[in-house]
Amino acid sequence: MNDCLFCRIVAGTIPATLVHEDEESVAFEDISPQAPTHTLVIPRRHMESLKGIESDDAALIGRLMVTASQIAQKKGLESFRTVVNTGAGAGQTVFHLHVHLLGGRAMGWPPG
Ligand code: 5GP
Ligand code: ZN
Repeated sequence: MNDCLFCRIVAGTIPATLVHEDEESVAFEDISPQAPTHTLVIPRRHMESLKGIESDDAALIGRLMVTASQIAQKKGLESFRTVVNTGAGAGQTVFHLHVHLLGGRAMGWPPG
């Protein structure tokens, strides 16, 4: 077992409120929600971030976005934002690729 927090959530050794699971991805509620809906969609396979991903990963990354959209639909979100922070300077704190799905409140632009 590596020491990646999200790999541990995938393995079930750290509890999380799961909202979706399939053979290649898992989605769960963020522990510190920044909006009424704040769900994280992650690949089961450890990938650090969008930096350095290969074109072989295109389908997987695309399906993470489809999963985020399906969760938004299930939650009845009219509008929502998907965010992938890449690198510490962009606010990434957990280095296992994840898509933030945020919704349920008005959002400003540009993000901080
Ligand atoms: P990042 O800052 O890397 O883009 O996003 C990491 C996200 O993971 C943050 O929104 C943070 O609240 C969330 N997070 C950190 N630790 C945990 C945890 O143990 N469980 C869950 N469910 N979310 C976590
Ligand atoms: Zn990981």
